[in-house]
Amino acid sequence: MTYLIHGKTSDWELVIGLETHMQVTSNAKLFSGASADYTPKSIPNDQVDFIDAAFPGMLPTPNRFCIDQAIRMGLGINAEINLKSIFARKNYFYADLASGYQITQTTPIVGNGYLDILDEDNNTKRIRIERIHLEQDAGKNKHDQNPTKSFVDFNRAGVALMEIVSFPDISSPVQAANYLRGLQAIARALKTSDGNMEAGSMRADVNVSVRRVGETEFRTRCEIKNMTSFSFIQSAIEFEANRQVEIYENGGVIDQETRRYHPDINETSTLRSKENALDYRYFPDPDLLPLILTSEYVENIRKSMPELPAAKRNRFISEYGLSEYDANILTMDMNTAEWFEKSVNGNAKSAKPIANWMISELFAHLNKSNETLLDCPIKPEHLSELVELISTDVISGKIAKTVFAKMLEGDGEPSKIVEKHGLKQVTDTSAIDAVIDELIASNPDSVSAYKNGKTALIGWFVGQVMQKTGGRANPGVVNQLLTKKLNG
Ligand code: ADP
Ligand code: MG
Repeated sequence: MTYLIHGKTSDWELVIGLETHMQVTSNAKLFSGASADYTPKSIPNDQVDFIDAAFPGMLPTPNRFCIDQAIRMGLGINAEINLKSIFARKNYFYADLASGYQITQTTPIVGNGYLDILDEDNNTKRIRIERIHLEQDAGKNKHDQNPTKSFVDFNRAGVALMEIVSFPDISSPVQAANYLRGLQAIARALKTSDGNMEAGSMRADVNVSVRRVGETEFRTRCEIKNMTSFSFIQSAIEFEANRQVEIYENGGVIDQETRRYHPDINETSTLRSKENALDYRYFPDPDLLPLILTSEYVENIRKSMPELPAAKRNRFISEYGLSEYDANILTMDMNTAEWFEKSVNGNAKSAKPIANWMISELFAHLNKSNETLLDCPIKPEHLSELVELISTDVISGKIAKTVFAKMLEGDGEPSKIVEKHGLKQVTDTSAIDAVIDELIASNPDSVSAYKNGKTALIGWFVGQVMQKTGGRANPGVVNQLLTKKLNG
């Protein structure tokens, strides 16, 4: 019952808005000095300040570093920074929330911005971002420690989150994934969040609705909560869109609700009907003054920003002549971009072949071996040297693959590998001459067939010479000499 491919059929289209939570990279929590650096192995409740446990009378103190991080992220998505923002209480009861309210922002620190992404046809599409606000994370309930008891671990309570809210400009699962990858790349470049989905430091609430093509109003949306995998997000959107279309096609209506995705059966199901903002009784936190920034303060942060992925991508295209596709892949994470530029090392001519080796050979290997670029034995200088050996005809492209395989095994510098295994290309014509003469002498039938018009046999001759020289002869030179001799 697939109605929607890439979010669109002739009848229906998909409308998606994402609320993305990213854990702010910071030593301390948003309003307390307790360490924000917890892992699943941390001792439960070992990183909890009085304020995180909501002891009566404790006052929150905003952590300036977390505020700077949100500003950086805002500048990273080309957004306005609000010089006045308001911390407010969002009231609800849950065991992992000791105070009975979450401190969040009603007037956000970051206003409208945008992110340019690639759609399913590799065209650039602008996704508008409504806001980024800062808020506290909650603790974690643990129901799997004891058959009759539940526990609460407050290590995560009070850790700073940035919630990044998009406009409903996303219209396919691929766009949703590319949007999230874009945010992840920016956060990593700016070191504002590690954006690690598996570890839960980046999670998305996915709002999905459908409408008939041509309709101008949006229809009712459902929100799929707490998604932490790119592929699950795409599957969940697809399932949810098709579910809604089917209901409409059968004359039904969609209730606005919060849903949960079940990866094992690839379905979503109702979690609860959508709560209303009024239910939370938001009000400005009386313990916190409005947050007032000056424009100089913001400008100083702007000046300290590193090059962002989008700017880097454009520079890779103009400076190195890379295709948009290659530039995109190489700027998706900063380690890759840095590795590439180290390997190019100012020699723009080598950029394209280096990009090709990285994208086709190196990444294929890393995918298989589950290694990252940083723990791979090939160093950027090694790849530049390999490319140099090919371009100066010291080795052939074919032999280069053999050398590359040895580099992957940790054999180090390609020139030493070439030396050690005698892989240098033979361009010396007299050495090749001898091989050709012998070949011609021992294959009179093929020679006469060639002379009688079966010129396609040249390929066979070249192949023979390459084989006899262990692939080390320069194929261009071989071709030239063979043609001359066979026609002579
Ligand atoms: P709330 O505060 O109730 O969560 P918001 O207006 O902040 O609602 O919107 C939450 C998210 O839902 C935003 O990312 C927005 O783009 C998205 N959204 C709003 N309307 C729709 C819709 N009709 N279909 C899909 N997404 C939507
Ligand atoms: Mg919301």
